[in-house]
Amino acid sequence: MTAKIIDGKLFAENLRGRIAGHVQRLKTEHGITPGLAVVIVGSDPASQVYVSSKAKQTAEVGMNSYKHELPAETSEADLLALVAKLNADPAVHGILVQLPVPKHIDPNKVIEAIDPAKDVDSFTPANVGKVQIGLPGPVSCTPLGALMLLRDHLGNLEGKNAVIIGRSNLVGKPMMQLLLRDNCTVTVAHSKTQNLADVVRQADIVVAAVGRPEMVKGDWLKPGAVVIDVGINRVPAPEKGEGKTKLVGDVDFASAVDVASAITPVPGGVGPMTIACLLANTITTASLINGLVPPS
Ligand code: NDP
Repeated sequence: MTAKIIDGKLFAENLRGRIAGHVQRLKTEHGITPGLAVVIVGSDPASQVYVSSKAKQTAEVGMNSYKHELPAETSEADLLALVAKLNADPAVHGILVQLPVPKHIDPNKVIEAIDPAKDVDSFTPANVGKVQIGLPGPVSCTPLGALMLLRDHLGNLEGKNAVIIGRSNLVGKPMMQLLLRDNCTVTVAHSKTQNLADVVRQADIVVAAVGRPEMVKGDWLKPGAVVIDVGINRVPAPEKGEGKTKLVGDVDFASAVDVASAITPVPGGVGPMTIACLLANTITTASLINGLVPPS
């Protein structure tokens, strides 16, 4: 068996097209231009690339993009003051503070300062709770993107055995809530799980969010499983030349592709979905703030 390769790049492109349509409708029918504010503290190169790409895609779908670049020595009080200002700004419907922040700033304080109505990353306790009880609101971007790819490929997820490897607040836990909501039977594995390969072998759906390059091997998979590889790991690639690197997932793609029925590649799978879902969340928050029902 050779797995179908799930094209997250193409799906994200189509999703952004649909989002641009929603933006247009909000503008013409309701006079609302959704606005997303992105705040970055310091000059971490990976964060800079990510933030620029968010700003570019925000503008491309017709939203207003507000980028706040603060020096690394910015105090926690000044960052909290900026968040308060954005909370109060009616032109801003989504606020994202790029993590990690410098060590002298407490990320939890920053997250809790964001108005949950504008928390497009779905990090605040209020939004985590809403996802858990199924109320409308923004949903953590990477798990939302993974869910969209799964629904697109499988249709109805009801009754599927899903194993998520990883229990982070960012990926594993919200993924668990979303799959449970879609009536999967969900197992969440982590670093203390015993006989992980045997656990994974029970799964119709495997979501790997571990942060360990190519850890999940093809012979861990049930034949025909659908594999969503969330991992993004940079590893040495001597075959490309001295000092070169490449990105790999948490799944050993070469062996998994012969056993799974479908698999997301790295790069080009879940990664491109994350920013597209951030934009989708901004449509959700802009709609809810204005008393409108968000598009499904
Ligand atoms: P975290 O480091 O926060 O969490 C990793 C999880 O994996 C933990 O729950 C940990 O268990 C578990 N784990 C670690 N080692 C093992 C092991 N040997 N066996 C089983 N479980 C293990 O990572 P994130 O959730 O933030 O990210 C996971 C991956 O996804 C990373 O590669 C990251 O780069 C990528 N990522 C990709 C995104 C995208 O846009 N595609 C966005 C966010 C993340 P325990 O809780 O017991 O420590």
